[in-house]
Amino acid sequence: MKLKRYKRFFKEIWIKINFKKIFAEEITLQDLSTAASISSGTNKYRKIRNKIKGTENKLAKYLELQINEQEDFVIAKFLTEGTHTFDVQTVTFDNGSVDKKDENVYEIWLKIEQIFSYLKTNPKNEITTQDIKDALKVCPVRVHCNCYAFLYQGSQYRLDQLDASIYHCDIPATTWEKLRPDNLLCKHSYGVIRQINFYIPQITMSLKKYLGLTKK
Ligand SMILES: [Zn+2]
Repeated sequence: MKLKRYKRFFKEIWIKINFKKIFAEEITLQDLSTAASISSGTNKYRKIRNKIKGTENKLAKYLELQINEQEDFVIAKFLTEGTHTFDVQTVTFDNGSVDKKDENVYEIWLKIEQIFSYLKTNPKNEITTQDIKDALKVCPVRVHCNCYAFLYQGSQYRLDQLDASIYHCDIPATTWEKLRPDNLLCKHSYGVIRQINFYIPQITMSLKKYLGLTKK
């Protein structure tokens, strides 16, 4: 069957069309915060993980806001702990001392594009706190997590297909595809995005400081 060769290609197209149905235009944080952006499998593990470690707003820490007004974007950065600690990272030295990396930490980046353009659209030519909060949710978003799942389970590839990945990726998921056929986000990025309302005031505050809108 010659068609077999193209099976995966068709599958990726199908996924693209399917997600395009959900995300008609540019993808925003509001879009991604729906359960549609994660496969049931990952959602299951996320729930198990939360049982052990608490929900993500207790886990992920908002780090900072990288601001580039000239290129019209901001990047909100978060830090989260991994699910497991791996023994492979335990190193025993010749003198018998043990250097154990006792936690895996992942960084999640949410890049919000066209945000300064959006903020300029206020008819009164001023920027309110609500404008910033709205902008964070309705401007185009690009996502990145530096965990292995994000790359190898196809999140980065699929997001890139939808112009929603910070970094370009042309490697579709292979091994994990059956298990995670429709993953758009890893559990870390999904965890942050799912609870984005918890973080929005913090991100808003960073931007207000930059714009000189905080009270002295
Ligand atoms: Zn991740």
